[in-house]
Formats: sequence, C-alpha cells, structure tokens
Amino acid sequence: MRAPRTRGEAVDQLVEVGRLAVERGLVLASGGNLSARLPGAAEFVVTAAGTWLDRLTPADLSVVTLDGEVVGGAARPSSEWKLHQRTYLVRPDVGAVVHLHPQHAVLVDALGHRIRLLTLDHAVYVRSVGTVQFLPNGSDELADAAAEQTREHDCVVLSHHGCSTVGPDVGTAFRRALNLEEAATATYRALLLGDMTTDFPADFTADADLRHGPP
Ligand SMILES: [Zn+2]
Repeated sequence: MRAPRTRGEAVDQLVEVGRLAVERGLVLASGGNLSARLPGAAEFVVTAAGTWLDRLTPADLSVVTLDGEVVGGAARPSSEWKLHQRTYLVRPDVGAVVHLHPQHAVLVDALGHRIRLLTLDHAVYVRSVGTVQFLPNGSDELADAAAEQTREHDCVVLSHHGCSTVGPDVGTAFRRALNLEEAATATYRALLLGDMTTDFPADFTADADLRHGPP
C-alpha cells in the first residue's frame, strides 16, 4: 500500500484497511474509526458515525477541516473525529490515523502491564507505546490527551478502550496497529508463562535496523 496521491486513493485504502481490521479481529464491525489526509492538506476524510468498518463505501466518509468543520461527504463524522483532528494538528507528518479496539492491547494495559516489544517487527513498526488514562470516548479530553502522547509515540493505547496508531499513510498506520496487537498478544503469553522481564535486545535499536529497510 503506497502513499496515496489523490483523495480517491486515500478513500480506497481506508475501505481496504477497514475490511482487514475487522477480518483480523482488531475491532468489532461498527467500533473504531479511520482517517486519512493528503500531505499538507488542511482537511481529512474520516469514517462517518455508525459505519461498519468492513462494509465501508466512499459515501461512509466525511470530509472535515483541521478547524473541525464538516465540508463534504457524510454529514455526521465519527463521534471520535476530534481524536483524528487533534492528532493531525500536533503531527504535520502524519497522513493517517487508525483507531481500533484490539483486545490484547487493551487487556494487557488494563491489567497494569506494559506492552513489551519482543520481535524485530515490533521494534521497527511499534517502536514505543504511549498510554492515556480512561477518558470518555468522543471527548475533548481524550482527543487532546491522545494527541499529546502522539507527539512522542506512533502507537498510543487508550485505556479500557482501544488504540490510536499513526503513519504517513493508511497502510503504515494499520501495520503499526497489527504489530501493537501482536506485541500485546506476545506479552500476554509471556505473562502466562510467568515471564515479567523479556524485551527486545536493548543494544539493537529499531533505528539502527531501519537503515537496512523494514524486515
Ligand atoms: Zn473507540
């Protein structure tokens, strides 16, 4: 999935990622929301309220400006549109925000454990995990707190709720969500075995590996 050149391509990618996210069990059909913007654009497309991510059509997307005004598409964007808006405001480099409800990431965090990065993929795609305490969904507080964490992390867990992952394009943001959930699942299994400490080797940083390209 390459970076989209037109809004139509971005919409096609959102439709595909919505289907994959449900297929992979990262969200139940009508939960979660996705958005994308073209590089430097002052508006973004975001899934509309009540849409099922595995059945998206271009008509299920709203066009919202960075000021929060709906200027096209479906009249009512997702109730969590502010999460996307605030994230774009603090991260000019971000072209897509993927908000899903991955089970293990939410569970491990809720149990008070850190999601550990154990494989090269986790280290390269997730890199680090931010967390936000539980705050009501759709609130300014949640949107602002998540955006604040996104200044430092590409993957943020929203406690007792879900995650927000970002990237330059929809595919990268989704790949981060997939790897975050895989890391959380691995952490969960490690905890079941009584392991509290294993991590990816600290002396081999993801940045170093990125010089050789993604694994
Ligand atoms: Zn949510």
